Amino acid sequence: MKEKDLKKIQREAEMVFSSYGACTNHPEVVFEEPEPRQFSFNSPFGACPTCLGIGSLFEFDESLIVPSKKESIANGAIALWNSKIELNWQVRGMTELFRKYNFDVFIPLNELNDDQYYALMHGDNQVIKRKNYAGREVMDAVWEGVIPQARRLFHQTDSQSRKDHFQKFMSQTTCPTCRGKRLRENMLSVKVGGINIIESTELSIEKGLVFFRNIGEKLSEKEKFIAKQILKEIIDRLEFLNNVGLSYLNLSRSAGTLSGGEAQRIRLATQIGAQLTGVLYVLDEPSIGLHQRDNEKLIGTLEKLRDLGNTLLVVEHDEDTMIASDYLIDMGPGAGVEGGHIVASGTPDEVMNNPNSVTGKFLKGVEKIEIPKKRREVVLE
Ligand SMILES: [Zn+2]
Repeated sequence: MKEKDLKKIQREAEMVFSSYGACTNHPEVVFEEPEPRQFSFNSPFGACPTCLGIGSLFEFDESLIVPSKKESIANGAIALWNSKIELNWQVRGMTELFRKYNFDVFIPLNELNDDQYYALMHGDNQVIKRKNYAGREVMDAVWEGVIPQARRLFHQTDSQSRKDHFQKFMSQTTCPTCRGKRLRENMLSVKVGGINIIESTELSIEKGLVFFRNIGEKLSEKEKFIAKQILKEIIDRLEFLNNVGLSYLNLSRSAGTLSGGEAQRIRLATQIGAQLTGVLYVLDEPSIGLHQRDNEKLIGTLEKLRDLGNTLLVVEHDEDTMIASDYLIDMGPGAGVEGGHIVASGTPDEVMNNPNSVTGKFLKGVEKIEIPKKRREVVLE
């Protein structure tokens, strides 16, 4: 056949496309029409099927089950089997395994070859004979392997103490299916502006703002029209977070890793978005842990909440916040048990001019915390 003819045939070759988002070569790959719920790891339609959207697995950890391979099974190498009764029962079930793989309970685990060790830990699918609890009847069984057996018993048991025992040998690991990204693979391959939804949550709030403000350039007119309202909402929310001094956080940070001040400022940022009025907010040192540079932004946010028609009661030691307040209450005279009395109250100016208020004197600058003449030496190592 001439090359020209071949090219013609190739050009005219039948090509199959699917209107159902399916791949003709890989029938297991089907893309459904994307829906919002598929982009949420809280929804079963979006969550990674292995970790159910958590991104990590609490799984049996081989290094905890076998702390030292120098030991033999008889000598307690499998730390999970911590009683003599259990060890005896397990060993009885392993007779056929030992015969088949040619090892025994007295060999240190580091002397086993890879096949022997794998079969011990992860099982062997072939049916073997084992004796029942009483050691009399012989039944067919499969050596499940130390880890699969532990996994099954952990899920079967109703006893909390048994569960607690198993949990000592488990640890948190990144989900191997989604590699910690929490969504199904199909959804992770949907990209906007070059990144997928999870990658967008891995940007810091500051970088996320830049990304979403500039994304319009990459969209067609039609896409811009569709995205307009959504983008406005995303940018607004990121700005609220930015304005309370949280620009360095990323949206994928888990709540448990936030400091008290950060968590409080996030709640504050969501409140501004809610646009509620007539609410009394009680805040305990919202400026805690905040860089001086971001303090002004935080105060601006508090004023915005006030201007929406809310009341804010703020417990604070920060000078700028005190001066920015509409009404200041100085509690004292001392700290802890020495306090409990209202020493002065009024506008910040009134408190500053109240001779009873120590805080007022400091705010006015009459009293200062002097920089000590003798500073501690900085020792660099
Ligand atoms: Zn996963």
